[in-house]
Amino acid sequence: MDLASSLGWLLADEWVRSPRARPKALSAWHHPDYVAAVVQAEEEGKVSEEVRARYNLGTHANPVFGEMYRRPATAAGAAIWAGEHLKKGGVLYSPAGGTHHGMPDHANGFCYFNDPVLAILSMREHGVRRIAYIDIDAHHPDGVEHAFATDPEVLMVSIHEERRWPFKGHLDDRGAGSVFNLPVPRDFNDTEMRAIREELILPIVQAFRPEAIILQCGADAVTEDPLSRLTLSNNAHWAIVDALNGMAPRYLVLGGGGYNPWSVGRLWTGVWGTLLKQEFPERLAPAAEAVLRGLSWPGRAAGRNPPEHWFTTLRDMPREGAVRPEVRNRLDALLARLRVWA
Ligand SMILES: [Zn+2]
Repeated sequence: MDLASSLGWLLADEWVRSPRARPKALSAWHHPDYVAAVVQAEEEGKVSEEVRARYNLGTHANPVFGEMYRRPATAAGAAIWAGEHLKKGGVLYSPAGGTHHGMPDHANGFCYFNDPVLAILSMREHGVRRIAYIDIDAHHPDGVEHAFATDPEVLMVSIHEERRWPFKGHLDDRGAGSVFNLPVPRDFNDTEMRAIREELILPIVQAFRPEAIILQCGADAVTEDPLSRLTLSNNAHWAIVDALNGMAPRYLVLGGGGYNPWSVGRLWTGVWGTLLKQEFPERLAPAAEAVLRGLSWPGRAAGRNPPEHWFTTLRDMPREGAVRPEVRNRLDALLARLRVWA
């Protein structure tokens, strides 16, 4: 938000502070006893062995921390709010959302609550039936698939790195027929993502005729991210953000994963600029550069000596390459399904 403001892209009347979801609202999908356990863990700053075992809280992946209820409940509040405010149509961006691993009765992969699921349920509550959920985070959205795999009115398309946690999202998963998973190999490049965007994502959304589109725009599939081995540039994400804009009367864009503060800040600010159809400066003005120079990444070698373009640009150099046979073959397998489905 600081970076977007410094570019003049975030005026006071263009954003709202997310309401924090109350436990009752979270119980639209999460089990009340689990929600109560998260509240209690935040209050006490620790969990018992039983709570750790039962709810997967206080683990390496889902640690106890000072805002462990308030922070995810605020992202969930944004999702529920979005369902209400998109009733009449529009575009909303919730960069703190996208916690797609959350499960109804336990935490999973640093996701305590599942805001994409809560957004879909909130849209449903406000009369929206057909919802396309597109996920371009490096990880498979196992929580969202768990919630809606058997619902033919939710289209779920996920592009994610193969053989990576949570080790789900296989090419032949179908759910009720509207689940499309495309696992991709390491070194996945912009050219491959363009082929997937043009041949799969856009035609499938068009065929589904959704009343709303949700895009989970995790920033961990870019080459600078330490948790994946994918090598996209941020241009790949922005092109998808832009292409989906206008394909349904309602459009909700979420954040997601992302573990390099510079690539996250640049990518997600660019998502907002893309939604606003802004011109991106070739070189950032001093105020914007100062925001990026103010970031730190303790404990990481790349954080000690960041390359200059992490401070001075928003846009990465494109990372084009060949469309490799394994990507082509998997894409063709899904396209064959699409022809029958559509
Ligand atoms: Zn991720």
